[in-house]
Amino acid sequence: MVLLLQAREPQPFIAEFGRLMPTLEVRVWPDVGAQEDIAFAFVSQIRPGVLAGLPNLRFVASLLAGVEHLVRSPEIPSDLPIVRSGSPEGDAMMTEYVLMHVLRHHRNLPAYSLQQGRAHWAPIPQKPTGERGVGFLGLGLLGRPAAMRLRDHGFKVAAWTRKSRQEAGIACFSGPLGLERMLERSEILVNLLPATEETENIINARLLSGLPHGAHFINVARGRHVVDADLIAALDSGKLAAATLDVFRVEPLPEDSPLWRHPRIAIMPHVARRARPEDSVPQVVENIRRQLSGEPLKWVVDRQVGY
Ligand code: NDP
Repeated sequence: MVLLLQAREPQPFIAEFGRLMPTLEVRVWPDVGAQEDIAFAFVSQIRPGVLAGLPNLRFVASLLAGVEHLVRSPEIPSDLPIVRSGSPEGDAMMTEYVLMHVLRHHRNLPAYSLQQGRAHWAPIPQKPTGERGVGFLGLGLLGRPAAMRLRDHGFKVAAWTRKSRQEAGIACFSGPLGLERMLERSEILVNLLPATEETENIINARLLSGLPHGAHFINVARGRHVVDADLIAALDSGKLAAATLDVFRVEPLPEDSPLWRHPRIAIMPHVARRARPEDSVPQVVENIRRQLSGEPLKWVVDRQVGY
């Protein structure tokens, strides 16, 4: 039983597999050895050629939460399962990160930072959390725990998802009309959608026009969700008060990008979370166990919808 690992820092992952499944042999790409031995692959940013020519592969597990690079890979046959490895409990680092940025925007830190630049002392009227609407685009593995934490902190939380659903204390919406209703109550909008054909460029002038005037935007999902020129126009017009961006179309963000120098944008270099072995290896081990005992795999990506 051999797993092919492709990770930037493989050693901690090897140690965790050794702890949880000592019988599993882990080979680190590019030292693949005999290709026919490889039954499972656990990959991060897939490089061309990593998965080509592995005749006995049974599934590909994604080390990253976003799976768009795997869904689009021509090296993964359409009938080969792609499985996610994120903890079903969510990710504490992402939850903390979303909480921190929502609180920053809620307490007007972007505006105070601008005022400090002008040595301008002017308290801004502050709402309590119970009067502040926070909207989530996407309520998945990463979004749901963050939304619940904000709900428990007292915010008025709403969310928009593909399938309709119910969550205690969270106003849930789906479909185009649901999106409009969610946006109109979102003074702070958090994007945690996956990157799919449907969600590409979704944060555009039209979507932003549905937010209350002076809303705040936090993007922790993917840069390709956002039409940057529309975001900048919304900030310049005052429709948006401020934005925090953790992810970008091109990373690292090119030096000449206008996003860097916009006074109402905070740039974070894609640091919301770190993929830790103890968060992901248990799910891969569980799926190996399931595969070997003939049980259905868990956390399988729906390749039709793209996440
Ligand atoms: P999930 O796949 O678990 O959840 C996706 C959510 O988005 C679900 O609620 C889903 O709805 C909803 N959704 C998907 N498509 C649509 C659509 N067309 N319309 C409305 N809702 C939709 O993703 P995660 O929570 O694990 O992660 C989200 C994204 O965060 C990742 O794909 C990745 O891009 C990004 N990410 C960013 C990181 C960073 O460091 N900044 C780190 C890790 C991830 P439904 O519930 O109905 O299925």
